[in-house]
Amino acid sequence: MTTMPGQILQAEPAARTGRAGTRRSLPLLVLGTGADPDSERGVDCPGELPPASDPGLVERARAARAELGDRAFVLGHHYQRDEVIQFADVTGDSFKLAKDAAARPGAEFIVFCGVHFMAESADILTSAAQKVVLPDLAAGCSMADMATYNQVEQCWEALEDLGLADDVIPVTYMNSSADIKAFTGRHGGTVCTSSNARRAVSWALSRGSKVLFLPDQHLGRNTAVLELGMSLDDCVVWDPHAPGDTGGLSAEQLHDATMILWRGHCSVHGRFSPDCVTDVRARIPGVNVIVHPECQHEVVLAADHIGSTEKIISTIEQAPAGSAWAVGTELNLVQRLAVSHPDKTVVFLDKTVCYCSTMNRIDLPHLVWALESLANGRLVNQITVGDQTAAQARAALDQMLALP
Ligand code: SF4
Repeated sequence: MTTMPGQILQAEPAARTGRAGTRRSLPLLVLGTGADPDSERGVDCPGELPPASDPGLVERARAARAELGDRAFVLGHHYQRDEVIQFADVTGDSFKLAKDAAARPGAEFIVFCGVHFMAESADILTSAAQKVVLPDLAAGCSMADMATYNQVEQCWEALEDLGLADDVIPVTYMNSSADIKAFTGRHGGTVCTSSNARRAVSWALSRGSKVLFLPDQHLGRNTAVLELGMSLDDCVVWDPHAPGDTGGLSAEQLHDATMILWRGHCSVHGRFSPDCVTDVRARIPGVNVIVHPECQHEVVLAADHIGSTEKIISTIEQAPAGSAWAVGTELNLVQRLAVSHPDKTVVFLDKTVCYCSTMNRIDLPHLVWALESLANGRLVNQITVGDQTAAQARAALDQMLALP
């Protein structure tokens, strides 16, 4: 069945966030183990998921995409597989894609080939009439999952008990759940990206004497030390799993710190070590090493350049022919850069393969399934954020847009 614009679709169970009374701490990487069906984000695909071996997948994706026409807008994050990226109407990092979606109010369906927090941000920034679809609900983000609503609320309560909360401005990285963005908005903070983290932290420190930086400790530390001239001693790490209720820190440490870094990290960028840099310099004489600021501080210190995904792309685009680059970011992007710049040597920083396993959940069978379902009048895997959560998260996103 093909639907017409404006026709109401029958929705499969949606993935909702921000509902009062449903928040609780989740274990990390809860992917389809069957141990706790309540907490596992849906790994079932209602209807028929085509097998990866189906030789007609590309043709089926093309046909469904053509049938949906302007009703659908397909977003592809830079870390997605080539087989998926070929169907993206636009590519980019998470914030660019959310803004691209908001700039397409005529698209009824935003098909987000990325991970869960990105789809949430797109839902927050798009109109109520637009439906955001994540082709596989198991495409989460281990970093975002490292800061849960309950953990962050407990941290804030501890800061209040110590009389510190009034001095603290929260700054959350884009790679966080809608709940954490809402927490940040509620407490007068801002969202940041890896491109504007310096401005976000500077702004926060003009309003308070401390920053609670969520959820990526490495981006927070690299920003504070390398871009704002703080020392490592100005930074402490709040560990939500430490015994007691002060994140493994003493009251004195919390009083003295300027940056309270949440103990979270990216499981992809966190893998790179200083040895990777030493090894690649030995293997490729004269190589330039460029890494993402989600990498460990020691890796960033050993590299030649640091930059967001967009900066990595533009740096290699503008590099002279014949130059050699070792890139410390997700492998799908590095491989695409290598293919699209045959006049340069572009290699992955690590010797071993490392994709973002959750990003890779979005494959061609899931994209075909999502597009065909939508074309056949069945709304699947919709990501929705509750109104109150969305409004508070939007305040933190708007603050980011207003950063000086
Ligand atoms: S690359 Fe890292 S931060 Fe990005 S989605 Fe994967 S785990 Fe999350």
